[in-house]
Amino acid sequence: MIQTEDMEFAPRIITPETTQEDSDIDVSLRPQTLHEYIGQDKAKENIAIYIEAAKRRGEPLDHVLLYGPPGLGKTTLSAIIAHELGVNLRVTTGPAIEKPGDLVSLLTSLSDNDVLFIDEIHRLSRAVEEILYPALEDRVIDIIIGKGPSAQSIRIDLKPFTLIGATTRAGQLSAPLRDRFGVIQRLELYTKAQLTDIVRRSSMILGIPCTGDGAEEIAGRARGTPRIANRLLKRVRDFADVMGNGEITTDIARIALSRLEIDELGLDGLDRRMLEMIIKGYAGGPVGLETLASALNEESVTLEDICEPFLMQLGFLGRTPRGRIATRLAYEHLGYKPPEPKPSADDGQMTF
Ligand code: ADP
Repeated sequence: MIQTEDMEFAPRIITPETTQEDSDIDVSLRPQTLHEYIGQDKAKENIAIYIEAAKRRGEPLDHVLLYGPPGLGKTTLSAIIAHELGVNLRVTTGPAIEKPGDLVSLLTSLSDNDVLFIDEIHRLSRAVEEILYPALEDRVIDIIIGKGPSAQSIRIDLKPFTLIGATTRAGQLSAPLRDRFGVIQRLELYTKAQLTDIVRRSSMILGIPCTGDGAEEIAGRARGTPRIANRLLKRVRDFADVMGNGEITTDIARIALSRLEIDELGLDGLDRRMLEMIIKGYAGGPVGLETLASALNEESVTLEDICEPFLMQLGFLGRTPRGRIATRLAYEHLGYKPPEPKPSADDGQMTF
């Protein structure tokens, strides 16, 4: 098969990471208050209490670490926290803070109780992280001026502030950094009902007519991720405009999504290829992630961050110490006959 450059390099429609196309839409669709923020009830309840307590005491909120797969609302939640606290928000990312000096100028420019949001905080360099430790703990930074014997250490006091760090990979954060967050909150994949509410809210904001069932159809294929739900809504609208009367109905949503090769559970081509490779290439697994990635000619982080959380939530994929396995549900979904369960050697239990 001849693969065109476009096919090879076009971003997957279901990629949960921000694409160029998302930037404008993301801003207009971002909820502004905790009340408008759909789902994540546990995180919301806790954060509402911490915000209230900080406001009553007139102190900054404790430093917060938000973690979970991309597109679940970490940036949105940080903006809401700053908004609810009535303070300014400064937004940056780990890789954008190249030198310790970049972080120093960010920290010294904050006003009382401001929120500094660092996305992809696991990608901070070691040298930058070291500036951050005393800043988080004692609100000071120590900088060295000059070199050699004439070098001088200067201590700068900072205004009270809150750092909100976001990461897709909490495990990659160094222990000293992780320990400096008072609040560590995991964001979960959204349920279909919550995503339906998100699609309905977005369609109202964007003025796209959409039936309740149409919204549900999109939500069911958005792999638990609001960013994907919003992106699919936009794509399906194109089909509704061209093939129908502009309204998104179940039928239009089904046609559009299958043209986009997203199946009824939200799996796209790569998800299916990954499962098929485990089933056909490795007899159902276990197979190591790196082996799988090279067999598929994909980055292992793509499989780990994007395919796996969703496939595991569906119960299609298992992670064992020896590698990934495809479950009976995965075989059935892809139309393969699951192998017969065989008794396990050591405990007589049936394994699959
Ligand atoms: P992350 O920072 O985790 O990658 P974002 O905060 O950028 O995710 O969220 C992506 C988009 O999804 C936002 O523009 C917003 O429109 C939508 N979104 C995220 N969480 C919610 C939510 N709880 N309710 C409604 N919309 C949401």
